[in-house]
Amino acid sequence: MTEICSICGLPKDICVCEKINTEQRKIYVVERHVKGPMFVTLVSGIESSKDIEVLLKDLKKKLACGGTIKKNEIVLQGKHKKKVIDFFVGKGYGSSQIS
Ligand SMILES: [Zn+2]
Repeated sequence: MTEICSICGLPKDICVCEKINTEQRKIYVVERHVKGPMFVTLVSGIESSKDIEVLLKDLKKKLACGGTIKKNEIVLQGKHKKKVIDFFVGKGYGSSQIS
């Protein structure tokens, strides 16, 4: 008996939906100058708002900085681009998926 994928209708052993889904995901990490000595690091591209909340919590803990969520973007206080990229690589993202 072959299981059928509910997205493409192909048998599960030749279906690539899940693979495509993970590979197409792209995370954007941008450092932005606010004013004076203040910088923020913006993280966007995360689709689920539930994931965003969990990631914000993890990132704040790991980077020991303040942070908030604005319009589906994570806003971290300070310049953390490199550390944020390391964080996502540690979660299994390929470095080509993060920019
Ligand atoms: Zn499929």
